[in-house]
Amino acid sequence: VFLALEGGEGAGKSTQAFMLVEWLESLGHGVLLTREPGATEVGKILRHIVLDNDTGELSPRTEVLLYAADKAEHVDQIVLPALAEGTIVLTDRYVDSLLAYQGAGRHLDSAEVEHLARWATSSLRPHLTIVLDIDPAIGHLRFEGADRIESEPLEFHQRVRQHFLDLAAADPQHYLVVGGDGTPAEIHAEIRAAVEPWLGQ
Ligand code: C5P
Repeated sequence: VFLALEGGEGAGKSTQAFMLVEWLESLGHGVLLTREPGATEVGKILRHIVLDNDTGELSPRTEVLLYAADKAEHVDQIVLPALAEGTIVLTDRYVDSLLAYQGAGRHLDSAEVEHLARWATSSLRPHLTIVLDIDPAIGHLRFEGADRIESEPLEFHQRVRQHFLDLAAADPQHYLVVGGDGTPAEIHAEIRAAVEPWLGQ
């Protein structure tokens, strides 16, 4: 079973990822928690280039290609081998982040970014994508004090949020949207209920 967690900054992805892994393990499942960008050796270098400010501003097309390379490496080296062993894979961010941040956020052509993302991942899609939805203005506040300063304007994050919601609305069978303003336990309960039917796949 392949699960993805998506959402903006401060939505509580990390907290929910840990709670979900703990629950799945308590049921006796083998689980791999992984993330994009930066899960592989090459991915760590790519993450440094795209996210650390000291490498300077990238052209949006360069950025999208680096994220796509991170995905190709991630899928081939980590995700597919784990799925082949019957491990449940939970990834913190996946293709939808590319579509939302680089496509919608940076105004790149969405069909082209989508094509690139599908190619980079050999069209591997999650059984379920969990979108933790939070108003970016609130997410920003929660994010303050974290180690990374998010430099994009609020409108950028609003486009990102809307794109996640649009993707979910277009394919409700494979998405769960959870309001990020519930308590961690409430959000976790909703995620459990949505993940349960996919177990045993
Ligand atoms: O999920 P995490 O907090 O590690 O993401 C790091 C940052 O990378 C996010 O805040 C987001 O701004 C950025 N990002 C991006 N495009 C992606 C994935 C992540 O801009 N495709």
